[in-house]
This record gives sequence, structure tokens and C-alpha cells, in this order.
Amino acid sequence: SNPSHIFWKDRNSVYLGCNRIFARSTGLDSPEAIVGLSDSDLPWHALAEEYRRDDHAVMESGLPRIGYEEKIIDAHGEERWARTSKVPLTDINGEVFGVLGTFEDITYQKCAERELLAAKEQAEEANRAKSLFLANMSHEIRTPMNGVVGFTNLLARTALEREQKEYLEIIRSSVNNLLVIINDILDFSRIESGHLAIHQVPFDIGECVDDVLSLFMQTARERGLMLSAHIDHDVPQFILGDSVRIRQILVNLVSNAVKFTLRGSVTVMVGVVVREGEALKLRVAVIDTGIGIRSEYLGDIFEPFVQFDERPSSDFPGTGLGLAISSKLARQMGGNLDVSSAPGAGSIFLVELPTTAYQHEHNVSLGEDGKHAGPIHGSSVLVVDDNEVNRRLIRVLLGQRGIVVVEAKDGLEAVEMAERHRFDLILMDVRMPGMNGIEATIRIRHMEHGRYRTPIIALTAHALPEERAAFIRAGMDECLTKPVLEEQLDELLSEWMAVN
Ligand code: ADP
Repeated sequence: SNPSHIFWKDRNSVYLGCNRIFARSTGLDSPEAIVGLSDSDLPWHALAEEYRRDDHAVMESGLPRIGYEEKIIDAHGEERWARTSKVPLTDINGEVFGVLGTFEDITYQKCAERELLAAKEQAEEANRAKSLFLANMSHEIRTPMNGVVGFTNLLARTALEREQKEYLEIIRSSVNNLLVIINDILDFSRIESGHLAIHQVPFDIGECVDDVLSLFMQTARERGLMLSAHIDHDVPQFILGDSVRIRQILVNLVSNAVKFTLRGSVTVMVGVVVREGEALKLRVAVIDTGIGIRSEYLGDIFEPFVQFDERPSSDFPGTGLGLAISSKLARQMGGNLDVSSAPGAGSIFLVELPTTAYQHEHNVSLGEDGKHAGPIHGSSVLVVDDNEVNRRLIRVLLGQRGIVVVEAKDGLEAVEMAERHRFDLILMDVRMPGMNGIEATIRIRHMEHGRYRTPIIALTAHALPEERAAFIRAGMDECLTKPVLEEQLDELLSEWMAVN
């Protein structure tokens, strides 16, 4: 009555006996009927030679073989899977006279395992497709946004009536909200697909906090909220870290705090948890006296796309991605994000980050002193972009700065123009039909032959770190992401055109 299949054979792999379940699965009436038969007489005769080899290996070595998986064929000729063990049988003198085997049918587990694996692969594939889709989609959305943002800003500078100005302001703030959402989605998909790189640069943490608070001063004042920062005296002025990402976390937390606080205060506190030499763990707390969060929500709060019903105001849109991104960013920097909160009692969001104190004296590149703005008036820039709206936007922006603009609509045209004229700067879109920006850059560098070097700036909707590296390898000097902001453009012009 043992549920395992049990059989025993002599030295020549001839059956000496088996249990009832084994007999049944071979189609025999009783266990006795097996005596004298060998595997070649049974439904699995095709596998007889293989089984025989296994029997002999066990008998010759005198060692058991435990729990291996093998194919079997049942009484109906169906292939199944078994987990088998074989042990040598020895007589009273220790002489091997046969082999005893047991097996269990594991076909069901085996199928389940295979289905599970297939399902897992499918899920992973779907997840990859989702991340890629999100990244591509936000890329595609950014390109037309470039036109919307740029021309809205230009329009704001023309003569407008009061009513028109009002409408334009609404367009502008809607566009900004939309950009926040697109950036969130892009960041999220980048983090998910492991494409987000963390940088280490020295920066002033106090300045970073002030900077973030200044973004919300206006709103806080309008609502009568106290907005303040407190930095402990043992926090070093400069630390090493990814200032952009730390700032991003802070913006998310402070924005939520302001969003969900109707009266009272929002305070940012920065302190040191532990310090060993220059290495330290920094703690940033964002404390509000807002509506708080119910305890049953706290477990999900760092999950993506989670938003709770209590939203005091609809003028702050959200994607439910802010906290998911912040928490992932903190973890990617080796730290973590935590929350404690109760309804009506406000919330505390705590970020802990490992970092290093940085001595300011060693540092020469802090600040803007590397760049010296020079006269750019009258210089010539080649703008290469297949998108007519983008070309036009840059032409207007550069034109307002007294720069002569020449346009090319693909890589080939760009190369031809660069052959005819030596430009002071080339702004090069990367993805273009026909010859793309990378190939055009390689050709232009080849043509320059090292005699001179025109600064070539890549213009992309978004660039992953490895794509950026490919641009630089191709001979580009820097990468500007769309939508092109005027400040960035100015910075770039003064940096690359003054030194030439
Ligand atoms: P979003 O702010 O875009 O909705 P988040 O991921 O930043 O997305 O926040 C998710 C949800 O967590 C919010 O919708 C809100 O319900 C809750 N929440 C976040 N911060 C606070 C806070 N300081 N006070 C109260 N609720 C908060």
C-alpha cells in the first residue's frame, strides 16, 4: 500500500518483484506477474537500455542514486515524468545481487513548474514592454511639447490684451503640470528598467533645501502656511551626492506636504544620524501639520499610482508616482524613505541617506567660474532637426540673441552645409529620417580633420546615460534635452561660443 512505485531486479535487470501500484501502472494484473520480465517486455521498452545502464551503474558502484528525474512511459503509452531513486541490494556477505528502485510520478508538478516558468517569462516580458512603451511614449510627447512650451513663452512676450494674457497664463500652467507628469512617468520607467544613473557631485545641502522651499513660498504665503527649514549645526555645508535626485525627492515631499496641509506649517529638518570621519548618514525630515494619512493606507503609500481619496484641493494634480519615485531614488542612493502619520495629526516623511562630507577648499570647479560669457552676437549656428516646429522655435530664440541661424532638415543636409560653411556651433537632433545625428556628427568630425572643431550639441527628447556616452563617442560635445529651456540654451551658448 505504499504510494510510491517500488520494484526490485536481479544483476541482469530482470524483475524479482514489485508493489501493487507499480504493477497497476504497467498494466499487469498482480505484482507476481512481473517476476521474470525485463524492461524490454514492458510499456517503456523504448527506454529499457537507458534503465539498464542506470541499474548497472548503481550495482557496480555499490552506491545509491537518490531522487533524479527521468522520463517514464505508462500503460497507455503516455510519456510521464518520475522522480526515481535506486539503491543496490546486497546479500548477507555484502555482495551486490540486484537493485531496488522507487519512483513517484511528478508529471503534474513538472507541468505546473513549466507553466509557472512560462508565465513568469511572459510577465517579465510584459513588464519590459510596459517600461519601454512608457519611455517611448514620453519621448514622443516631449517633442511636440517642445513647440508648445517654446512658443507659449514667445507669445507671452508679444503685445497682448488682458484677457489674452490670462488665457496664456492658464496654458502655461497647464503645460507645466503636464511636463511634471511626463517627467514622472519617464523617471519611473527609467528606474524600473534600471536605466537611471546616480551621480556624485559636491553640493551645498542648505542651499538645496532653501532652493526647494523657495518654489513653494508663494503658495504657502497664499494659504497662510509657515514654511521653514532647520539645519543642525553638525551638518556639513558641502556633501557628496546626486544633488538633482536629492532635490527631486525634496520637491516631491515638500509639494505633498504643502498640498495636504490646509493650516499650520511645513518644516524641513536636516540632521546627522551617525558620523564616522567624513562618512555620515544624513536625515532629512519633512514635517507637516496637514490632514495626515490613515494607518490602513500607510502600507501602500510608496506603491506606484496610489492616491487616497482625501484631496483637499484639485488644483494640485498628481500621478500617484511622486512617493514611489522618491522611495526608489532613496533606495538607489543606498538610503531609504519612511513615513509616520495619523489622521489630523500631520505627517512626517523621513529620508535617510548615506553620504560624505566634502571640504570646500579642495574644490575648484564649484560655481559658474569656469564659464565666461563672450560676445555671441553675429555668430552663426546650424540647427539640424527634421521637425519644422522645433527648427522654427530655435531659430526665433537664437534670432532674439542676434545669432544667424541656418537650418538643415536631416543629417545629410547638415554635412553638406558644414562643408560649405564653418559654423560657430551646431545643434543636432539625433533621431532623424535618412541620416541621423550620430552619423552626421561622425562625418563632420572626419571632414574637419582635426583642423578645427565646431562644438556639436545633441538635441534629444530624452537620453539614457549609455545613449549620451554614444553621442560623445561619435564626437558630440554635450547633450541638451527637449523641451529646450531658455536658461539652458543661454548657458550652453555662453559656454561653447565664448571659448571659440
Ligand atoms: P501624488 O501626490 O502625485 O498624488 P504621491 O505618490 O506623491 O502622489 O502621493 C501619493 C498619495 O499619498 C497622495 O495622493 C496622498 O493621498 C498621500 N500623501 C502623500 N503625502 C502626504 C502628506 N504629506 N499628507 C497627507 N497625505 C499624503
